[in-house]
Amino acid sequence: MDAAAQIQRKETGDEAQVRNHWNVEEAKALYDRPFADLMLQAQRAHRKHFDPNHVETASLLSIKTGGCPEDCGYCSQSVHYETRLKATRLMHCADVVATARRAKDAGATRFCMAAAWRTPKDRDLDSVCDMVNAVKGLGMETCVTLGMLTPNQATRLAEAGLDFYNHNVDTSPEFYSKIITTRSLQDRIDTLAHVRDAGIKICCGGIIGMGEHVEDRLGMLVLLANLPGHPESVPINLWNKIEGVPVEDTAEPPDPIALVRLVATARIMMSRSVVRLSAGRQYMSDELQALCFLAGANSIFIGDVLLTTKDPKVDRDADLLARLGITSGITGGKQCAQYVAPTSSLGEKCR
Ligand code: SF4
Repeated sequence: MDAAAQIQRKETGDEAQVRNHWNVEEAKALYDRPFADLMLQAQRAHRKHFDPNHVETASLLSIKTGGCPEDCGYCSQSVHYETRLKATRLMHCADVVATARRAKDAGATRFCMAAAWRTPKDRDLDSVCDMVNAVKGLGMETCVTLGMLTPNQATRLAEAGLDFYNHNVDTSPEFYSKIITTRSLQDRIDTLAHVRDAGIKICCGGIIGMGEHVEDRLGMLVLLANLPGHPESVPINLWNKIEGVPVEDTAEPPDPIALVRLVATARIMMSRSVVRLSAGRQYMSDELQALCFLAGANSIFIGDVLLTTKDPKVDRDADLLARLGITSGITGGKQCAQYVAPTSSLGEKCR
């Protein structure tokens, strides 16, 4: 029996457990399976833990844009690069909540708030805790991404009621230093441990299309799957073309079939995790997205803007999901409304 077939037996048997001891060779054996076999195995894993005809819909808002001291080579928000992005201050809580309300009306069930910081200041964390508390009051799941956290900061967010913390490992351990030099991968892993210890669920994935090899993409999945607990959410991002950042010189969009294979491999390796098609969906055809859903992707971001880049419009998503017979916050609520950037303070439950 070959390695991939042995993994299939482990993953589909009644005794299947969440595995935390993958290696790249095993991941590659899965990834390289004949396409039909890989898709069947991914579908089996998917159906074991999820409704295969349902996709989670989340919404992402940049609550503080640009001016970030980190040097992530793919990012328009770093102060190290000339990207013509206008930096902003931290948004007012009431404006954040108003945007969350519109996202909920458009079909989002989770609201993610992103701030371009290396690590939050205590004063700013007070404001973010207020936002978390107020957005939860709308009946939405909450997620924030604020950079590195201390154990105490993670505890404060947990006490505010935060459901998820996003902190991506970005890429493989081998490729990491080619993309970021202002922090180490271990810094990231330490913050993930603080978040987990505080009782917050983890959203952690990475980016492809930056010039990495297939082995780096698989190394990233191995890194994620070998964390002490699999991340509850695994976002897979396609690098969005941004002028003026170092990755512009190395980027290479992945072959569409390679993307589907990666999603299927992630589904099999982390069968209980939600796998999200995140940034880059505007580059993907409906057919490619459908194949990714078939491979086990079961979450998307909805809205017109994803941090500082474009995302497919909600009505296009509603149309695609309806044609595929996939339920979601959009189709379930019969909402196709597009929501727009915040305009005014509405006196929500904020300090
Ligand atoms: S830490 Fe986040 S906001 Fe800052 S440069 Fe890196 S990706 Fe961009």
